[in-house]
Amino acid sequence: MEKLKGIRKLYRKGNGQGTSFRGRMNSWTFHEDQRQIDYKARWEGIPVIYVDPRNTSRKCPNCGSSLVELEGRRLWCPSCEKSEDRDVVASKNLVACAVPQARPSG
Ligand SMILES: [Zn+2]
Repeated sequence: MEKLKGIRKLYRKGNGQGTSFRGRMNSWTFHEDQRQIDYKARWEGIPVIYVDPRNTSRKCPNCGSSLVELEGRRLWCPSCEKSEDRDVVASKNLVACAVPQARPSG
């Protein structure tokens, strides 16, 4: 899984919370959620693999080419000549990082 950095954005601004409250929520959420997920996964015998979430939406999960950003959160691969939702692309790339044998050899 990604290292849950994005979840901090939820508390970053707005909704009338004070700075100190946001700081507490950030640190608690980051560590506690990750610890819980890690613990429960291990309890079920599921391996937890941490990968670098950077650039997961930048390369085609099928061929590795650089993707072109389109409107509406979609990404275009010039090599495969198809577009896909950026979240789908990121998910495929995360799986490919965590499980190397799942990455296509070509
Ligand atoms: Zn491609």
